[in-house]
Amino acid sequence: MPAGTRKNTGPARIRESKTTKRERALEILRRLEGEYPNAKCALNHRNAFELLTATILSAQCTDERVNQVTPALFARYPTPYDLAAARQEELEEIIRSTGFYRNKAKSLLGMAQALVERHGGEVPADMDALVKLPGVGRKTANVVLGNAFGKSEGVVVDTHVKRLAGRMGLTTETDPEKIERDLMELLPQDRWLAVEHLLIWHGRKVCDARRPRCEACVVASLCPTGTGRLEGAAGGTRTVGQPASSTGGDARATERAASPAGAARKGAKR
Ligand code: SF4
Repeated sequence: MPAGTRKNTGPARIRESKTTKRERALEILRRLEGEYPNAKCALNHRNAFELLTATILSAQCTDERVNQVTPALFARYPTPYDLAAARQEELEEIIRSTGFYRNKAKSLLGMAQALVERHGGEVPADMDALVKLPGVGRKTANVVLGNAFGKSEGVVVDTHVKRLAGRMGLTTETDPEKIERDLMELLPQDRWLAVEHLLIWHGRKVCDARRPRCEACVVASLCPTGTGRLEGAAGGTRTVGQPASSTGGDARATERAASPAGAARKGAKR
């Protein structure tokens, strides 16, 4: 089966030391930063309140769709005080296309009322206070803390981060909170915001859920899923990380032997 067509979404298991895995994870981030130097939160916002609102709307919805809805929403309710006083039916109508609009409208109203009643109309820059707001879980709180306040208290694990961290062998977990814990252990705190943005961007552009384009991936030589797929597509003779159009392989073979992934891949299994 050609590379890029096989469905392969489960976490990859590889044997490697913690040190090797850390080095590999950091090199993956370095390469992805080279690819996506402008990776950032895709939800349009001008302040913490707008980001909190947009993030609540993004549940089970694409960021693009949310970005289509929020200009009218923010114009109608520019502050928590305005949103707290909104009529639920009117709010539902504005956000209807994001799906689950009744529950989301309730969450937005509850969130805005709590901001007004408990926080003087300000979004708190604090995990404990954020997760007490209606409609706000740890994931939403992490998005707001990281992107609006520059505070990394965790790693946002969305569908892309979950899929890519598994494929890259950075975690064997499938529960988002356990994946977050693994990534936090693996990476220094000042990389937590970067890892979520970079994995999300790479997931959208290259490591598609159904058709990962391993042959075009800059981290293929560091990814057990990618190396397995590329070798399988080449009948087991292809060198890890070798571009699809190339027939030479000595330099790549040397790189593989010297790289954390090369060592790790020996024990790689699905
Ligand atoms: S090599 Fe790249 S595209 Fe393929 S599974 Fe790994 S991260 Fe995804």
